[in-house]
Amino acid sequence: MRRLSAAASHVGKIRSNNQDSGYAGEYLFVVADGMGGHAGGDVASALAIQSIAHVDRRFDSAADAAEALRSALLEANHELAETVFEHPELAGMGTTVSSIVRVGDQLALAHIGDSRIYRWREGTLTQITKDHTFVQRLVDSGRITAEEAAIHPRRSVLMRVLGDVDLTPEIDIDVLDTRAGDRWLICSDGLSGYVAESRLAELLAEHPDAVVAIQALIDESLDNGAPDNVTAVVVGVDDSPSSSVGSPVMVGSAAKPLTYSASASKRSVRLPSLLLHPLSAVAAPADEHFEPESEEFLQALIAEDDRRKVRRRITWLVGVLLIASIIVGLLVAGYQWTQSRYFVGVSNGQVAVFQGVQQNIGPFPLSSVYFESEIDVDDLSPFSRERVESTINARDLPDALSIVDRLQNELD
Ligand code: CA
Repeated sequence: MRRLSAAASHVGKIRSNNQDSGYAGEYLFVVADGMGGHAGGDVASALAIQSIAHVDRRFDSAADAAEALRSALLEANHELAETVFEHPELAGMGTTVSSIVRVGDQLALAHIGDSRIYRWREGTLTQITKDHTFVQRLVDSGRITAEEAAIHPRRSVLMRVLGDVDLTPEIDIDVLDTRAGDRWLICSDGLSGYVAESRLAELLAEHPDAVVAIQALIDESLDNGAPDNVTAVVVGVDDSPSSSVGSPVMVGSAAKPLTYSASASKRSVRLPSLLLHPLSAVAAPADEHFEPESEEFLQALIAEDDRRKVRRRITWLVGVLLIASIIVGLLVAGYQWTQSRYFVGVSNGQVAVFQGVQQNIGPFPLSSVYFESEIDVDDLSPFSRERVESTINARDLPDALSIVDRLQNELD
């Protein structure tokens, strides 16, 4: 029997604990990616999932479900703040939440943070949610491209999450139509940041069974180094009776008993695996953290980004100037060399000594008359006249002058 929905979570290859949580129920599907200063990310995502899980029920309308999800996320936010109040060592913890409730042929969505919801329809994957990140802000304002955002040094900075900072965080909610054959993927950035969307689409197409598909998705991220926790939930939409939804599962830190001990959730970085994988050196993410969505902070980040751009431009300019000065230097040295050369030729019908070489660069001659003698070329013997007209190279200035002397002697 084809399983329609599934959830799985992996700690990844570098982090020492899993701060992601996932839930796949009958109607409700959620991914939460926790983060915290020195501890608490696992607590935050687990608490969020547990306080949202009651929304896993049948709704009469998707609009009701969306409102219920929004309320549940705000309750979770409140609970996180309460927990920090009771356990001050957890201050600064927070979590993303991306969630779906199925209501007939519609879905209610609630989302905050940078976990993502994708719709897979007839082989095409479409990102439905928008990341609440600093780099997404830069993309939206046209300052950088999506490709630049993916490798931006500040790509881990979140502008909105559930946590203990904002009492009423802004939560995106939406209602969407869905139809038989659609599959919905919810994942943490440990998957979307390390597996290309085209590849996610291919893997979903290859594996109709949700449990197998999710394993393939997570394996792909592990193959790419998986420096971060990786969590995915897949929801298939199907009217066929030979498909099953399965009983609710919790994965990641939500699947474990909660511990509030700061030391238990301390992260350590295991360097050997970081060094082993060729991708992970570039891919290792900075510690995720969120910042209150204040205009002041955003402006500070934008100013920093501008300074980075200016530094890059200065480096570029210095490079260009350096190359230009080398070229100018070579030209000057070349010109100086030509001006150390002399030859004998004709100027105004007289035998003359020229400084430089016979060539021209475009309209600019590389030679000039150094000395015009009294000798009329017409007075020379036909042989000498022909030689002078086709120019006679000299070793140096005295040599050139002695050639003129010899021509003078010829006439005397
Ligand atoms: Ca993450």
